[in-house]
Amino acid sequence: MTSVVELHISDYKSVRTVYRAVVIGVIKEYLETPNMNYRSSQSKMKTATVSAYITSAKIADKKSNDVWLNAKIALVILFIAKLWEDLWQDKRSGQMTQEEIDAIAQRHTDNYVRGLDGVFSEANVRRSSIKNVPLTLKGIDGRPPEFPCQTCDNLKGQTHPAEWWVTNNLIPYQGNPNYACGCWGCKHGLFDGNNTQYTL
Ligand SMILES: [Zn+2]
Ligand SMILES: [Zn+2]
Repeated sequence: MTSVVELHISDYKSVRTVYRAVVIGVIKEYLETPNMNYRSSQSKMKTATVSAYITSAKIADKKSNDVWLNAKIALVILFIAKLWEDLWQDKRSGQMTQEEIDAIAQRHTDNYVRGLDGVFSEANVRRSSIKNVPLTLKGIDGRPPEFPCQTCDNLKGQTHPAEWWVTNNLIPYQGNPNYACGCWGCKHGLFDGNNTQYTL
C-alpha cells in the first residue's frame, strides 16, 4: 500500500515540475514582452492547466470521477481569466524591474502549483479503492495565534474512513473553503495507519 502511494507521488512530481515551468514561463514572457497579446498567453496557461489537472487526477486514480474534477477546472479557468486582468494592470502601471517581474511571476506560480497539489490530493483521497481506509488528520499547525484555526484544531487527531473526508468536503487542500484557515497557514494532511500521507 505504502509503495503504491509513493510511486504515485513521484509520477505526480514530474507533472508538477513541468507545470511550474510552463506557468512561470508564460507569466514572465507576458510581463517582459512589450505589446504582447494577453490572449495567447492566457490560452497557453489554460491549456497547460487543464491538461495538468486531468493528468494529476488520473495519476492518483485511473478511474477518477470527472464531476468534481470538471468543477475544479471550471473554477481555475475563471481564476486564470482574473489573473490576466491583474497582470495586464501590473504591466500598464509602468515599467517594472526584473526583480519585480520575477517576484510577481513567482508568487502566482506558487499559487497555481498549490492548486495542482490540491487536485492530486483530492484524487488520492477520492480513490474508490481506499473508500474505507481510515485516514487521520495530522501535521504541523502553523504559527499561533492564527493557527491552528478552529476547524483544524477540532479535526486534528480525528480518524475517519476516506469516504467521510470526501463527503464532508474536508480534504485538506489549500483553498478548501470548509476550513476556517483555508489550509493556507498550516501543513495538515491525511495519513493512513502506516503513516503514509495521502494529501500534499
Ligand atoms: Zn486550519
Ligand atoms: Zn490545518
